Amino acid sequence: MDNYTIAEEFELPSKGKVYSQKVNPIVKLKSMTTTQEMRRLSPSERPYKAMCDIIDECFVESPGISSYDMCLADYQYCLINLRIATYGTRYDIQTSCPYCGNTVYEKIDLGNMDVKYCDLQDLNSLFEFELPRTKKKIKINIQTPRIIDDVTVQNKALQKKSKGQAIDSSLLFNIVSLIETIDGHEYDPIQKEDFVRQLPMMDTNYIVKKVNKLVESFGVNMQIEHTCPTCGLDYNSTFRINGEFFGPNID
Ligand SMILES: [Zn+2]
Repeated sequence: MDNYTIAEEFELPSKGKVYSQKVNPIVKLKSMTTTQEMRRLSPSERPYKAMCDIIDECFVESPGISSYDMCLADYQYCLINLRIATYGTRYDIQTSCPYCGNTVYEKIDLGNMDVKYCDLQDLNSLFEFELPRTKKKIKINIQTPRIIDDVTVQNKALQKKSKGQAIDSSLLFNIVSLIETIDGHEYDPIQKEDFVRQLPMMDTNYIVKKVNKLVESFGVNMQIEHTCPTCGLDYNSTFRINGEFFGPNID
């Protein structure tokens, strides 16, 4: 068969700076095949894993890291560029105006999304900080698709064990998975779990807020601005992946 592959080149929002290994931030992704789409649609215990395997296969050259271990900002941008390489930049979305309730249909250009690149100097205080109540010094990891899948799997296993009586433990597992060191020491997951369970909520909230700041500090701007054609007022919506993302309309 002739080569119908299209490749899309772009720079990772992290610029490869947040990883311990050497990562080439200029990456090229080629379009998805039907075989890969079938795998994407197959049910999985680890939904991010299936998508990341496809992204990894579509890298024209390996960036030096699996997309499963990339920070979320890089993963999301890879996903958007895989969509562009496979189906083009036009993306049909539907939002609801918060002022008049009108449903607004729009076409957005995925190639024009606003991307903020990482400036590592500003980030150090987000990776390492002192907790306000216990004064413990915490170092956190970046959140990756692998970590999110791990948390989902752990939480499901716990829910199953307690036959539906369990409280949602994703907050606990999330924090445990993100803590790298406490006062400069490494601990195993069981020890970290004990630590977090006893942690005053003021400190837990502090970690959650730091993680959120880190997530917001670089990557694709997920806020989309709209002007309602009916009432003329401006509003924002959060970018979401709908059925048009991997299966756009052909009209
Ligand atoms: Zn309106």
